[in-house]
Amino acid sequence: QARKRFGQNFLSDDYIISQIVSAIYPQPSETLVEIGPGLAALTKPVAEQAGHLNVIELDRDLADRLRHRSDLSDKLTVYEADAMKFDFTQLQQGDQKIRVFGNLPYNISTPLIFHLLSFSSLINDMHFMLQKEVVQRMAAGPGSKAYGRLSVMTQYHCKVIPVMEVPPESFKPAPKVDSAVVRLEPYEQVPYPVSNIKALDRVCREAFNKRRKTLRNALGQLFSSEQLEELGFDLSLRPEQLSVADFVKLASHLDLQ
Ligand code: SAM
Repeated sequence: QARKRFGQNFLSDDYIISQIVSAIYPQPSETLVEIGPGLAALTKPVAEQAGHLNVIELDRDLADRLRHRSDLSDKLTVYEADAMKFDFTQLQQGDQKIRVFGNLPYNISTPLIFHLLSFSSLINDMHFMLQKEVVQRMAAGPGSKAYGRLSVMTQYHCKVIPVMEVPPESFKPAPKVDSAVVRLEPYEQVPYPVSNIKALDRVCREAFNKRRKTLRNALGQLFSSEQLEELGFDLSLRPEQLSVADFVKLASHLDLQ
């Protein structure tokens, strides 16, 4: 019985599963970690290719089942834990970066992505199944409706590559929404670094809360019109027209008390 509060929609389409595993392309020497292995639809093929896999599962019964699966248990390290609170540095061996993947619980996917982005410097890549709309928001550019805080914060850290779309029928039970797989590749060095990531988040929140207003009005709490003009911004622009580089520029001039 799937537990709704844990966002349990289990992948049941073998073709989709094989496509995702091919996209991940797991290798034996890598440190791989899966978030929310559930009934092991992805876990089993990935563990077979990689030889070893770390999994983080919050549901006690599912974690227990994984530990007792005779075909899998010797290939898995099972963390019965909340991925949103998980310290991913504990998985790093030497200076080899980790690879993360999962068919994420949709009810917590955005905060979970933000938590993972805070570990970007130790992550080689991430493959996630998400609500299609969330992948669109991650990949969106300035001027589009889907462009927002998630776009800027994700693109600040990572190259965003949509991989494929997945229909509801590929899961049991079928979710009410369309899904998509995305690959996130954290930059070795971010293209536009900001000294305080919290400042970037603050500017994004403020800006996208008032996305239809002009910059002068949307950012009035954080910057004076003179400041914005000195930084070279056209005051009649709307926040949703600013690039990631623009947001970084603003964040670099924000005094966080
Ligand atoms: N990977 C499986 C599959 O594709 O069939 C299951 C995917 S299901 C959408 C999400 C999984 O994440 C469930 O197994 C659920 O119990 C687990 N989960 C939910 N919240 C979690 C959390 N905070 N931390 C870790 N796992 C969580």
